[in-house]
Amino acid sequence: MMPPIFMAASRDQALTALNDFLPKVPFYGQRRNRVIPGHDDVSRLSGALRHRLIQESEIVDAVLQQHAFQAGEKYLQEVLWRTYWKGWLEWHPSVWADYKHSLAAWHDGAKDRTKKRAVALMEGRSGVAIMDFFAQELMQTGYLHNHARMWWASFWIHVERLPWYVGADFFMRHLCDADVASNTLGWRWVAGLQTAGKTYLVRASNIRKYCDPSLLEAHQAGLERLEDDVVEACPAPFASIPCIETLERPTADLSRWADRRVGWWVHPEDSLADQDDLQKSKPVSVLCTSLVHETSRSSVSNPSTRYRHQVADDVRQRVRSFMGSGDRIHTVEPSQHWMESLVQWASENHLEAVLAYRPFVGLIHDRMTELETRLEVAGVVMVWVERDWETTWLPYAKKGFFAFWKTAREQLLVRQTYVSS
Ligand SMILES: Cc1cc2nc3c(=O)[nH]c(=O)nc-3n(C[C@H](O)[C@H](O)[C@H](O)COP(=O)(O)OP(=O)(O)OC[C@H]3O[C@@H](n4cnc5c(N)ncnc54)[C@H](O)[C@@H]3O)c2cc1C
Repeated sequence: MMPPIFMAASRDQALTALNDFLPKVPFYGQRRNRVIPGHDDVSRLSGALRHRLIQESEIVDAVLQQHAFQAGEKYLQEVLWRTYWKGWLEWHPSVWADYKHSLAAWHDGAKDRTKKRAVALMEGRSGVAIMDFFAQELMQTGYLHNHARMWWASFWIHVERLPWYVGADFFMRHLCDADVASNTLGWRWVAGLQTAGKTYLVRASNIRKYCDPSLLEAHQAGLERLEDDVVEACPAPFASIPCIETLERPTADLSRWADRRVGWWVHPEDSLADQDDLQKSKPVSVLCTSLVHETSRSSVSNPSTRYRHQVADDVRQRVRSFMGSGDRIHTVEPSQHWMESLVQWASENHLEAVLAYRPFVGLIHDRMTELETRLEVAGVVMVWVERDWETTWLPYAKKGFFAFWKTAREQLLVRQTYVSS
């Protein structure tokens, strides 16, 4: 068994992990690419960010307060990559629809031989020992270092010539930080579908440079398949992706609901209901949902499922202390149908409105309209609340990252003057 990798699964753990990582931020740029046991050169905050146990704004402000801008810039840039990918997918939602469609078509139509090879890679039986180690690490810990994700995805696509969306689904099922935007677009970027003329190729020389020597020493078999002069890019038909005309993510005026009979729905995309805007309302009841149905036909692994349960426990504890008791907190169990449970809960509690943070393109987002309609039939209004972070940054994420970062950099420099004063 692999040793466990620390991944903050509660808000307190996330705040502590951030605090512990802050002194390392100035060295992040130099060290972040090294793949070493324990992964102490990176923050491992992605699970907490993904479930919003901690907000991007909190991380950014902590870095800006403690460090000169340049010292923190590389780390800030990575945190903003996450925001950028989320925004980009909001502007280009057809990528997610196409992904789901391609995945379903592959399960129905792929040849048995291809499926068997895909399973061998996913089970860590490819014959390239270091890649097999990463597959095992992912399944046993729920985490992979960014560089290992890039190598493994490139191995899958460019060496094994398997479809990127099947590999992406494997990551989605096993990562504790599984995130529709970062994962789908990370895989597309490796495949060369995201940026014209840019493909990421796994190279033995790069693995030798950045992988822990003893780890690589123990996993030499098959490395010759990744030698620099052997690996060739799998041709990717780059096509520009349709972009929506306007980003419609309005936020609700919560003052309207201040004295009304409302409930909060806390879902896996935003676990901080007890912070910020939602607090302007007084919920009579709170519903917590830890899992929504998966896209994939295959099962979800233990570490990521366990992680999500830990996140859900943390949500319940925090909401309990906010509400003063656990009496009015309800939970949708993974075996229950989340939408039916939600509508039933809203009706039984005679709610006028359900308040929730607005989800991003993904599984809940896919069913927002259906949910709104079903609640309306039950006489309940669905109210989506947008955080300032999204309102500020998502509009800029329509095009490439570097234009996005140019604007972000300028705004963060200004932000630094007031967060440090
Ligand atoms: C093929 C592939 C799939 C990926 N799938 C996911 C995913 O499902 N969920 C996910 O959160 N990240 C994903 N990433 C991005 C990245 O690998 C992880 O966010 C990062 O490794 C998490 O570890 P960390 O928190 O220690 O990162 P750190 O290096 O400490 O970075 C801090 C934070 O910045 C953000 N970040 C860092 N690198 C990236 C990046 N390349 N893209 C977007 N955000 C980034 C993350 O939120 C991260 O927590 C993927 C990358 C690739 C190449």
